[in-house]
Amino acid sequence: MTATEHRISHWIDGTVVPGNSGRGGPVFNPATGERAATVDFASVDEVDAAVASARAAFPGWRATSLSRRAEVMFRMRELVDANCKEIASLLTAEHGKVLSDALGEVARGLENIEFACGVPNLMKGGYSEQAATGVDVYSIRQPLGVVAGITPFNFPAMVPMWMFANALACGNTFVLKPSEKDPSASMYMAELLASAGLPPGCFNVIQGDKLAVDRILDHPDIEAVSFVGSTPIAKYIYERGTANGKRVQALGGAKNHMLVLPDADLNMAADAAVSAGYGSAGERCMAVSVLLAAETIADELVAKIAERIPSIKVGPGNEPDNEMGPLITREHRDKVRGYVDGAAEHGATVVVDGRDDVPTEGFFLKPTLLDDVKPGTPAYDDEIFGPVLSVVRVHGYDDGVQLINSNQYGNGVAIFTRDGGAARQFQFDVNVGMVGVNVPVPVPVSYYSFGGWKSSLFGDTHMYGPEGINFYTRGKVVTSRWPDPGTSTIDLGFPQNR
Ligand code: NAD
Repeated sequence: MTATEHRISHWIDGTVVPGNSGRGGPVFNPATGERAATVDFASVDEVDAAVASARAAFPGWRATSLSRRAEVMFRMRELVDANCKEIASLLTAEHGKVLSDALGEVARGLENIEFACGVPNLMKGGYSEQAATGVDVYSIRQPLGVVAGITPFNFPAMVPMWMFANALACGNTFVLKPSEKDPSASMYMAELLASAGLPPGCFNVIQGDKLAVDRILDHPDIEAVSFVGSTPIAKYIYERGTANGKRVQALGGAKNHMLVLPDADLNMAADAAVSAGYGSAGERCMAVSVLLAAETIADELVAKIAERIPSIKVGPGNEPDNEMGPLITREHRDKVRGYVDGAAEHGATVVVDGRDDVPTEGFFLKPTLLDDVKPGTPAYDDEIFGPVLSVVRVHGYDDGVQLINSNQYGNGVAIFTRDGGAARQFQFDVNVGMVGVNVPVPVPVSYYSFGGWKSSLFGDTHMYGPEGINFYTRGKVVTSRWPDPGTSTIDLGFPQNR
């Protein structure tokens, strides 16, 4: 690292703490390909320091009143809103997504902080008077302690907000390990949380790689781990975390299908496929990557999509006219490109070739449309995570649903139709966690919960919303009576309520 190079460090106990492990990694500007910063990689001791700070802060934060915790969330809501452009520009600089998309990410993250502002209501328990004569029973929810979040590169602001908003509001303290590819947004949010009045130690950021993740999974003082990332790592996190007795929710990868029935409005379906396939360069876990086109309308639909693609403006995310930015790294861009290189030999047709006329600087690939993609080939079977939309032609509804349900992933899915009965049957039939009816990217609002099925989620609770509150709290039931001591007797029988 040169003396002038920007360095991104840890946030421990309410302040920036430069790493001392001697290890670090590059952070690129994906639009230029230049190395823009070095991020420190934590040692075991540095992770332990963050966890110790969070552990020390827990009793005080947990004892802080619900109103006060909500007040901190309200202030954080105002600060994120007031600084949304600043956060968005950090996202564009390190992730590459265009500014409008980055602002959308911040806005969707913000909804989770707004949800968490309602924590006094969300943590209400139940009360049963006179469950037995003179006996009352009530349930309460209490925070877990120190909880950790491990997040992916594609939503460096929103996914941490999915986690820390509810976790902190419920009275837990938090250790975040963001993606090492775009770590700055987390540091910025740590500063905002401090400005919002969150006490030191309640929120810590540990930069790093597998070494830091493994220490989180093994650390005896961490009660729960939330993870979002690729399926192999999600499975690993779930298995190692739960083996160590932790509560784990681990969200994995996706292969989202969009089924277009013959009665659909094809212009609307084409607009939706282009928006959901190429938005954020396809680097969204809810991106549409497979278009299932009923064969009677497939030619027309493919033509409509192909005619829309050339007008998509591809370029650096900080130029306001651009609609699609670069991919995250050179290696990832080359991997995505490899799927296009191999498509023809697997029998697909490259209808629009995003390898042509690509900007020479940066990690760009333009929107690509593959037709006649066959299940059993890499372009269909793998999560590509780039601007490649694969069209699979199907006979009709049954054929489409059969493919969706036999896929290993079950994150998001969409149907485009004007037939309400078909749409209702679809929502009933598909083995997928999040379903869109004429909505191509059905990310649930913050007062529902987000999560896929099958290899898209390991664990029992979905993320954020009501399930997030459940994940970050545990239930306790109190049975209470206040009898006249003069009536007290010994009774060895099992307690009866009737
Ligand atoms: P990733 O799995 O490579 O990394 C996620 C996190 O795990 C990062 O913090 C990373 O440092 C850490 N990590 C990576 N390799 C590790 C290892 N061997 N051991 C321990 N930790 C490791 O994912 P990514 O490339 O950052 O993100 C893209 C993936 O995330 C895609 O598969 C996408 O579908 C998925 N994703 C899923 C959702 C969802 O809600 N289901 C949301 C966003 C992204």
